[in-house]
Order: sequence, then C-alpha cells, then structure tokens
Amino acid sequence: MLADKHQERTSLEQLGEFGLIDHLTQKFPTAQESTLKGIGDDAAVINHKNQTVISTDLLIEGVHFDLSYMPLKHLGYKAVMVNLSDIYAMNALATQITVSIAASNRFPLEALEELYEGIALACKKYGVDLIGGDTTSSTKGLLISITALGEHLEEEITYRSGAQPNDLLVVSGDLGAAYMGLQVLEREKEVFKVNPNNQPDLEPYSYIVERQLKPEARKDIVELLKQLEVRPTAMIDISDGLSSEVLHLCKQSKVGCNLYEDKIPLDPTVISATEEFKIDSTTVALSGGEDYELLFTIGQKDFDKIKGNPNLTVIGHMTDASEGAHLITRSATKIPLTAQGWSSFSESE
Ligand code: ADP
Ligand code: MG
Repeated sequence: MLADKHQERTSLEQLGEFGLIDHLTQKFPTAQESTLKGIGDDAAVINHKNQTVISTDLLIEGVHFDLSYMPLKHLGYKAVMVNLSDIYAMNALATQITVSIAASNRFPLEALEELYEGIALACKKYGVDLIGGDTTSSTKGLLISITALGEHLEEEITYRSGAQPNDLLVVSGDLGAAYMGLQVLEREKEVFKVNPNNQPDLEPYSYIVERQLKPEARKDIVELLKQLEVRPTAMIDISDGLSSEVLHLCKQSKVGCNLYEDKIPLDPTVISATEEFKIDSTTVALSGGEDYELLFTIGQKDFDKIKGNPNLTVIGHMTDASEGAHLITRSATKIPLTAQGWSSFSESE
C-alpha cells in the first residue's frame, strides 16, 4: 500500500544495515576527478594532486541540535556546512565528505531519508562527493559525524598562525544572526509548549532564523580572495563567536589585536532582534557563535584590493603580542577581549 510520505514509517530493523546504507546512498553520484572510488568498497580511494586538508565534527542530539525546531533536512545540510566551513577556513576547496550516523529506533527510514536529502543538497551545491561513512544504531537519539576533505597547493593553505603585527583583520558577511535566530526559535518553542495551536509568525525573523537553520559555508569568499589575488596571512572560521576566534588567531600567530566595536558588521534585523530581546548587539557578535563566516588577516598592501567589497569588512588590526587583544568601544574605551566577549574590567592604560 502506498501511504502518504509523512505517514509512512518504515522501521530501520525492517531494512537491515545493508539495505539502509544502499537506500540512503543511492542518489549520490561522484563528480570530483580526485574520487577514484566512493561508496561500496571497504574504503574509498582518492587521489589529490595537492596537499590534503581534513576536518571532522561530531553532532549529538540534545547537545548540538534540537529536533523540535530543526527539520532533519536542514540538519543534514547544516552538518555538511559546519565541516566545509573548516576546509574553507584553510583557504582550501572541499572535495569529499564521509558521513557516519547512529540512530535510535525512534527514527524511521523516512526520517533518515530527509536527513540525507539535506546532505545531498549540500553536496550538489558545493560540489563535494559523499564517498563513505558508517551506520549503526544508538540507544538514545541521533548522532552524526562528518569528515570533510579538501585540497590546495602547499603555499596557499592558510593557517591560524601566520598573522603579523599591522596586518588588517577582516571578516566576511555579518555576525550574530545565527544566535539571534536561535533565540527566536527557543522562544517559539516555549510558546508552543503552552499553546500548541499557536502558529508562530517567523516572517519578520526569516533572515536570522535561516542563518540558524540553514547556514552557508563561505566557499564564495575563498574564491573571491583568489580572484582578487589576496592571500590571507591567517584564517579561521567563526563557529564559537568573534572574540574567541580573534583570540585563537592572536595566540597561534603570537600577535595582539585591536578590534573596533563600531566596525563589527551587523544586519539590521539582528540589531532589531537584540533590541527586542534586550541583549547588547556587540555581545551577540562577540560571543554568539554559529555564524560560519571567515575571519582572516591580510597585509596592509592588500587593502586596496578588498576596499569597498560588500562581502568583506575590516574590523581591526593586529599588534605586537605585548599589547594584548582589545576591543575599542564606540566611546573609545580599550577593553581586554576574553573568550566570552570582553572583560567587564577595563584595563588601566
Ligand atoms: P564496513 O563493514 O566495511 O564498514 P559498511 O557495510 O559499513 O562497510 O559500508 C559499506 C559502504 O557503505 C562503505 O563504502 C561505507 O563507506 C558506506 N557507508 C556506510 N554507511 C554510510 C553512511 N551512513 N553514509 C554514507 N556511506 C556509508
Ligand atoms: Mg562500516
């Protein structure tokens, strides 16, 4: 009998492990020249012509995602984005991924199909091949682990450690939206608990909610920098909040930094949401996380090449390590940056 897709519930036991893997992975053609063997053997075989970069993330239900407002298709898409973002943060291009999942018997086949639809969409849009993974059961909840591979010329790979004093600090896109999107979704979840008939109007929040549920990794920025002939001296992606990533760059490059509060790029909908939630917008940009923008440093000589580009904003400059890492506020107060944002005690000059 053919039932409505949403009512269909095929249990995972019915299919068995091999049936499940075959079913989920059948719609994944490989397109990368470097993929010699994808899914279907004991191991995949790849042949990168340049250096290989590789990154893994583990996502756990209840810790990293909440399925009460995260549709599974979005989750699949986002899980891939999180990993590709790390590859782009090395200034490399992503080429392959592997996906491992563990699901409890609460998840029917149809749920995993939705998850893989999101994964397939991400692979297609970003031109990466799914080349393998592992599938197993879990006693509770859903776990997803993705490994992304990419490649680039040795001299083009960008580490966190290459920033020099006087380099400019640049960020792509705008910050804080994913965090504010999460605040809106959490609020709607509470409202729904009280009144399940309440239909939330998320339209005014569409940008920030989308940034939370369907982030995009900044492949376009890696391509843009190449096109502009700008080689970043150091780079990192913003997953934990701007201040924590600035501190990583400073520590690994052994430099200090002056970050200017008035330069931090914020979307108008983020500003209005922070006003509504009575949160400081700078705090959100510094500590919010999940923006998946790229943060990088460039030599002063490259400033003219990026000047005026709507995708890129200069938000500060690097200094000698001895000067430390600071936020220069709108009122020109110099405050030490901390991983949580900034220290509430201003340093005496
Ligand atoms: P093995 O027993 O050697 O680990 P599996 O039966 O687990 O092999 O996997 C068979 C093939 O399917 C392998 O190519 C593996 O990489 C791939 N595969 C398994 N699970 C997944 C998954 N969740 N997503 C993508 N590919 C998978
Ligand atoms: Mg296996």
